[in-house]
Amino acid sequence: MGAPKRHTPASKPKKKAKRKPDYVMGPVPRDVFSLSRREPPGPPARSLPELERLELLVSNPDLYDVADQVFPGRTPGARGRRPAYPPFIYLIVLASISIFETAEMACANFQHEHMWKTVREGVRQHRGDTTADSLPETGPQRHHWHDFRPKMIEALHELREASRDAWIKQALAKGMLGRKRRGTLVRPHRSQVITGDGTVVRPASDQTEEFTIDEKTGELQHHRVDPDATIQLEGGDREIYGNKLVTFSVRDECSPHSRIILNTDTARHQSEELDPDRQEEAKVALRLALEIRTRAPGNHTVVYDKAWRGMHRAPLIRAGLLVFTRQYDGLKPHPLKKYRYKATGCTHDVYAAEGRACDRLLSVEGKTLYDPIPVREVEYRGGEESRFYHILEIPCRTGPHVERIPVYETREDMALDPRTKRMRFNRTEHLRIIPPGTEAGDRLIGFRQDSESVFSTLDETHRLRRVPAYGADGALLIYIGYAWAKNSVALGIGRRTR
Ligand SMILES: [Zn+2]
Repeated sequence: MGAPKRHTPASKPKKKAKRKPDYVMGPVPRDVFSLSRREPPGPPARSLPELERLELLVSNPDLYDVADQVFPGRTPGARGRRPAYPPFIYLIVLASISIFETAEMACANFQHEHMWKTVREGVRQHRGDTTADSLPETGPQRHHWHDFRPKMIEALHELREASRDAWIKQALAKGMLGRKRRGTLVRPHRSQVITGDGTVVRPASDQTEEFTIDEKTGELQHHRVDPDATIQLEGGDREIYGNKLVTFSVRDECSPHSRIILNTDTARHQSEELDPDRQEEAKVALRLALEIRTRAPGNHTVVYDKAWRGMHRAPLIRAGLLVFTRQYDGLKPHPLKKYRYKATGCTHDVYAAEGRACDRLLSVEGKTLYDPIPVREVEYRGGEESRFYHILEIPCRTGPHVERIPVYETREDMALDPRTKRMRFNRTEHLRIIPPGTEAGDRLIGFRQDSESVFSTLDETHRLRRVPAYGADGALLIYIGYAWAKNSVALGIGRRTR
């Protein structure tokens, strides 16, 4: 052992050198994915003072119900040793960490007469006078919180599920994710687009060595080390040491503070070296999106990043969700079908390239040219398993040929090829309902970038991007609290304007 070791990021695995494709792509045609206008940006979100956030938080009725549901028998009046504060007070403390920056500051604020009165008024509104009047004269102190926190970690699974169900109901109550389609398949209304993100929550310290020797004094020092944190990739290229969380949210059009976080969970510690394609994150994100879909059925659009590949998109599409992600690069064009037309004597060699059907031609320079075929219409057919189709209009000197192609995983695609023993065609990997690089796709990417501001709010709240929590469970607990505070704002502000 030598000098105190500081955490240094492990060397990055070598990126595969990008090979230049030996083909050229034709221009993106004007078709159903071209948009005539962009929606105007909504009014900027007004900054909310801490007191207003707290007021909105304690006026959220679901918060009390979820606490009672997850921690039954802990409410005052129940048998056994009566806890000093009912569980919903601790859920309020948890959510207040994101309002007051640390648990210590949240508890300090609850010692203040005015702040505590605000909390009691919320309790009075939702649990009646008797409960409100039986609360102690001041709020919980740090030691109360430290005593209760392990119980929250113990019940984390239930807390996550009960919170998720309440959040999704809130979104539905606010008219988001309705069953009836708003907008079109290609251009869905903002309130019908679920955006997802993986984010890294950093532990309270970057320390990775439990013991170090102080260089100057030679003393052995003990450090608290996050048991779960590893080097994570955020935004595809930023290396951050911490715990990965996946979250999904929805917001309304032109309505500041309307974003509701719908679902969240940890993507367990996997370093980039062990999991370069972020399989773990993609799997968790898939599960979370399907959980939302079950609770808010409808023809919604879900947007994630490149971690979602064809194998993740296929089950989502089957469930009726229109999935949009940017295209994974490094995919080779794949033959789709050779169309022969007897009447005109022409043939068209149609390939899937860069996410859409293309006419395979020869460029002037003698290179292979993939010319994107205009899509006239996107068709949706519901049922037990949803199906989506593109109506293509293959350009031809004899006049366009109209063809319908599936852009979901068909039964024939799934059949095993006897030679390769693999699925015949990974269609949802090669063909996309909304192809990337189109205006309709760019619009959806814009929604996701906007959703990233959720995390910048979290970052602002927790200085230096540090959530004061150790371990994947600790990070998730803090995020659940943050989501309660944020969603209470969306819920309360909506009610006020109504
Ligand atoms: Zn033709």
